[in-house]
Amino acid sequence: MEKSSCGRPSNAAQPSPAPAEIAGLDRRKFIGVGSSALVMAALALSNARSQDIEKVTTAQHDKSMTDPGPENGGLRDISPNGFLPPPTDHGEAPEFWNSFSIAHRRVQPGGWTRQVTVEDFPISKDIAGVNMRLTAGGIRELHWHEAAEWAIMLSGKARITARDLEGRGFVKDVAKDDLWFFPPGVPHSIQGLEPEGCEFLLVFDNGNFSEGNTTLITDWLRHVPREVLAKNWGVADKALDDLYTVPVEGLFIFQKSVPGPLEQEQHQIAGAKGLSPVAFDFPLHSMAPTFKTKSGEVRVVDAQNFPVTTTAMAHVTVKPGGLRELHWHPNANEWQYFIQGKGRMTVFFTAAKARTMDFNAGDVGYVPQTFGHYVENIGNTDLIFLELFKAPRFQDLSLSDWVTHAPEQLIRDHLRISAETLQAIPRDNSTVVPS
Ligand code: MN
Ligand code: MN
Repeated sequence: MEKSSCGRPSNAAQPSPAPAEIAGLDRRKFIGVGSSALVMAALALSNARSQDIEKVTTAQHDKSMTDPGPENGGLRDISPNGFLPPPTDHGEAPEFWNSFSIAHRRVQPGGWTRQVTVEDFPISKDIAGVNMRLTAGGIRELHWHEAAEWAIMLSGKARITARDLEGRGFVKDVAKDDLWFFPPGVPHSIQGLEPEGCEFLLVFDNGNFSEGNTTLITDWLRHVPREVLAKNWGVADKALDDLYTVPVEGLFIFQKSVPGPLEQEQHQIAGAKGLSPVAFDFPLHSMAPTFKTKSGEVRVVDAQNFPVTTTAMAHVTVKPGGLRELHWHPNANEWQYFIQGKGRMTVFFTAAKARTMDFNAGDVGYVPQTFGHYVENIGNTDLIFLELFKAPRFQDLSLSDWVTHAPEQLIRDHLRISAETLQAIPRDNSTVVPS
């Protein structure tokens, strides 16, 4: 082949086929035409707009995309964008997908737990997630930990207990879409209620957190010399015999009968100081949307409306065909949990690195602080997911808001768009589009 046919834009005088013709060129037709036509087509290609070249390139690479070797068909089918990235993806972007559905499940009488920590998900250094199930009566043992615990009830009902920093007791019943938050060191417990127990998500503000490394009341006391504990409480050694039959690593999750009426337990723990006035729980289910468009709703819960929390959250619903707009978060990394539906997200990692992944219920996603991203509903049902941040306040910046509130000429000089196109971009309320 002549050097001149290699696609350099050296001869602008050659007539260019219409973009539709270029896009329609496929590899077989290309091979079938004569050499002079080949030269013309190559030159025309060089003059075509980049999007047309992209289409031609895709068509020419039909054979390059074939995959005759072994393949995990299940993973391929649930993650079409992960399997074959869109042509705009590029470079070595780190893994930002994980899933509770592939995490080890620790099953005990009374329920189970599974977790996604930095061990399995190296990008997430400041947040770890735990997904837990408790049967009716199943108890997550009285415990505390160094990390703060943010939670959302996913299914069923539970009773939660805690003690505030002034020594006042807290006990409440929580149901689907209720939140709770326990600061570091605050002792607490969770117990499943009738009829079906519960399942919930816990989010900890340290990627190294492990559900296996919390201070369990029985684990601790089982490792205090019996005479010391007896002296601490002023009781006989013998009165503690049964405590020392608890497994050496503590109870963690165990099956008991469901607790009595809530009012009765609230009365029991009130004591001289009364019940805690601290709201460790938050009724997300009855909250009006913070942002609402025709394509979806976003509910923001952070220290402004849930004072006890140091973890900010946005609960996002995107209707079919909708898009959580292109945006970024200036103040924190984003850890995501997908509750329902099918979505895809592209994260732009700067320096031409971008990767797209698909997300289904039970999956976890991650976006580093300040990196641009969107989440698109690519399914037939509402897409529901959580954005979580190790920060007291939720903050996000919108691409549309930015480009519609900057000097018009400056934006048009960068983006090479007409005044009409710029005018069409949403100027406000673009959180979920079309708005
Ligand atoms: Mn806990
Ligand atoms: Mn986001």
